[in-house]
Amino acid sequence: MRKKHHILLSLGLLGLLPACTVAPAPPTYRIGFSQSVSSGDWRQAMLAGMKRELSFHPEIQLLTRDAQSNSLRQQQQIHDLLQAGAEVLIVAPNEEHALSPAIEEAYRRGVPVILLDHRTTSPHYAAYVGGDNTGAGASAARYAAQLLRQHGQVIEITGTPSLVANERHQGFVQALKAFPHIRVAGTIVGDWGSTSLQPALTKLLRENPETRLVFAHSDLMAQGVYEVCRKLGRPDIRIIGVDGLAGKGNGLEMVQQGRSTASLFYSPGGEEAIRVALRILHHQAYERENILGTIVIDSTNALTLQQQAAKLTSQQEGIEQQQLLLRTLQATYASQRTVLYGLAVSLLAAVGLGASAWRAARNNRRINRELARQNKANDAINQELVRQNAANDAINRQLSTQNEEIRAQRNQIADLAEQARRETEAKLRFFTNFSHELRTPLTLIMGPVEEMLTGHNSATLQPTQRHDLGLIRRNTQRLLQLVNQLLDFRKIEVGKMAVQAHQEDVVAFVRELVETFEPAARVQQVALTFAAPEPALPAWIDRNVLDKVFFNLLSNALKYTPGGGRITVRVQPAEEGRAVQVQVTDTGRGIRAQDSPHIFEWFYQGEQPATGKGSGMGLALAQGLVRLHQGQLTFSSQVGQGSTFTVTLPRELPTELRATDAAPLQAFSLDEPLVLPAGDAEGPASEAEALVLVIEDNTDVNEFVARKLRPSFRVQSAADGKTGLQLATDLIPDLIVCDVMMPGLSGLEVVARLRADWRTSHIPVIMLTARNAPEQQVEGVQAGADVYLTKPFNPAFLLESVRTLLANRARQREHLSRQLLTLPEPTAAPHPDQSFIQALTAQVEADLTRTDLTVEELAHALGFSRMQLYRKVKAVLGTSITDFIQSVRLQKACELLRDDSLSVTAVAYEVGYASHSYFSTSFKARYGVAPSEFRTRHQTGVS
Ligand code: ADP
Repeated sequence: MRKKHHILLSLGLLGLLPACTVAPAPPTYRIGFSQSVSSGDWRQAMLAGMKRELSFHPEIQLLTRDAQSNSLRQQQQIHDLLQAGAEVLIVAPNEEHALSPAIEEAYRRGVPVILLDHRTTSPHYAAYVGGDNTGAGASAARYAAQLLRQHGQVIEITGTPSLVANERHQGFVQALKAFPHIRVAGTIVGDWGSTSLQPALTKLLRENPETRLVFAHSDLMAQGVYEVCRKLGRPDIRIIGVDGLAGKGNGLEMVQQGRSTASLFYSPGGEEAIRVALRILHHQAYERENILGTIVIDSTNALTLQQQAAKLTSQQEGIEQQQLLLRTLQATYASQRTVLYGLAVSLLAAVGLGASAWRAARNNRRINRELARQNKANDAINQELVRQNAANDAINRQLSTQNEEIRAQRNQIADLAEQARRETEAKLRFFTNFSHELRTPLTLIMGPVEEMLTGHNSATLQPTQRHDLGLIRRNTQRLLQLVNQLLDFRKIEVGKMAVQAHQEDVVAFVRELVETFEPAARVQQVALTFAAPEPALPAWIDRNVLDKVFFNLLSNALKYTPGGGRITVRVQPAEEGRAVQVQVTDTGRGIRAQDSPHIFEWFYQGEQPATGKGSGMGLALAQGLVRLHQGQLTFSSQVGQGSTFTVTLPRELPTELRATDAAPLQAFSLDEPLVLPAGDAEGPASEAEALVLVIEDNTDVNEFVARKLRPSFRVQSAADGKTGLQLATDLIPDLIVCDVMMPGLSGLEVVARLRADWRTSHIPVIMLTARNAPEQQVEGVQAGADVYLTKPFNPAFLLESVRTLLANRARQREHLSRQLLTLPEPTAAPHPDQSFIQALTAQVEADLTRTDLTVEELAHALGFSRMQLYRKVKAVLGTSITDFIQSVRLQKACELLRDDSLSVTAVAYEVGYASHSYFSTSFKARYGVAPSEFRTRHQTGVS
């Protein structure tokens, strides 16, 4: 729509241009003018007349050629004019005959020819324009008769013999016939000029003094006549000329000045020829023969004609000036038109540009409007976003509040859970500690009871006493068993129960166990059978763990199977030989469906406990232990029919569950960042790892002791004192059980040597001695034994003694470690452990600056092997030697940091750390602050 407007505007402007370009039409016609001669006033007058006429016709271009009286040249020029495109030809012929071929050519080309002044012999001309020569001659005769009042003698002077001269002569002569009293004295043939006639005229006048008038065919010849008459003194002779041209020295002036009496004006015909040509060109009707009239000029009209001629001339000049002006104007106009064109084009361009600028502006406005609209929309969107953000914020706030609430609740729950856990933990700890505390007195009760029932005085017991003692023993055993189960349960719970498997024959192991239940089964009148399809099934098993499992299963079977029932224990391979299955099947009361999902829960006993015989711990413990052993415990049961409990164990166990007899040896590096183990170096886990060396020459006793200790500890045996001492120094056991009476090196000597050697001085020793040698007890204690047992001793009592000593050792260790941390230099060192630590510390300090100090070097310097030193330090301090070295280094660092003469980096190097950052990390791990902070605190006294 807008675009259309724009186009229309442009078209309108283009339309303006032709209106602006109204200009004189360029010459549309060419008129050729061929003249024989251009010189002479008459010829000039002819040309002037043409031009005058053409000044009203700017559409005509006049092409003129001057042949200079040469007929051949004129022919050629006519040809040229035709070639140049002349549409009409005006020809003033030089000769009547010579031009015919040229006229014929024009005729052939269809170009009309206007003959001017002279005729040719060719009939093929369009028009003739010329004076009436005959008439002129006749006019001259009549005017002469009038002047002479029809009386007198005249002379005629003709022009060069020609058609014109002849016609004038004829006209003159014929007209004079009307006046009989006028006589022609003579005729002189002139040449149109003024001089050639003079001699003949002078002669003729002298001969004819009566002559009163001379008629010359031209004004020029009349001038010659005047001069002759003046010379002859004949001013009375009247002179008549022809032409009557205006201008200097011409006929009009001669008449006016009295040199001639009259002149016959006769138009050269230029205007008329042009007028005829125009009619031809405009296809208008025209006269073929155009004979021009003659006027007599004499003193009566000469002045008027002269004035008219002057006026005409000035008018002509005015016209020419105006034409000049017009041309100038046209030129100006043309240039202005060009300028206008330019302006118009510029205007058009400007308009175009303006239009496009306007359109662009309009577009901009539209775009701006659109942008404004979009901005508004964006604003709305932004507002909406802001609103939504606000809403989101509100929601977020709400959410965060809720989150906070949830977090608070969660924290509360966690706190509660933690509290519950702590409370449970505290209860369990109490329970555990309490069980520990119970065990020792129970053992102490067991010892004498056993002694009374089985000792050599037992024969003196009354039956009731024996019964009561039996009651005491059974219940004490039961209590012990419960306590032990509780402790095992605790061990499993805190992950301190470790499997230490050996490769053993499961068939033999289970058979042995079943056999111990035979007496009880007999008493209860329950048939107990053992079945094994394979004679032997070797597997990796931990007796200590499985013993408790099968003990519980067999106890339950016996417990819940009434007299007359049957218990079958079957050992067989399973899972294509990769596992061993032990099944305990009874024909007892079975397990009710509602109890089935719960029987493995701690303390679950179902709704009908077996008359106060159980505790609800047996199956839970058994399952925990089987899982620990990487096996499965399942059961199937039918109420009233009986139950089958199945234990499936893998025959192979991963290496970490297999027992190693030597202590684990690690590669120690000082560059390992080590942190002190968090307390609790004692406890059941380390007990299971504890190595007990039994030195006893009696093989039976040695084996008996070993068997009793093995479920709880790693046991090494030595058959005599010397070997025992050697093993003690090699292995650095955690405890030594040593017989006093041995061949060779006696027990007392062994103990003395152990105490004398730094490597073994810390090892607790239990001495076994004969009952009736009290002096040995004193000696033993003096030699440095920790506990003294008389043979035959209660194995449970021995076990408890071992445990107690190990626990004491741990306490002592803790004490020492604490001392080491808080008191860098113990003042007094009566205890051998302390003196060892002092020596060790001194050794480490001696090489403190050495970053490459190795444990081997250190051990060597103290006379230890690396392993011995490791075990000694572990036993005495409960830490690794590496840790100990580090603690010495860091303690020294503390000292150096208190004094600010060394930079922290220098301190690090001083105490044997190659890297500042490792030093900082280690220091911070131990003391909780960075070395620099430690220094600042200490210097400002804030520490
Ligand atoms: P308890 O000390 O009570 O025997 P256990 O954990 O050993 O505790 O057994 C849990 C419960 O499972 C028992 O109280 C008993 O109800 C049931 N139970 C265990 N073994 C048998 C069995 N062989 N026959 C029937 N019931 C059994």
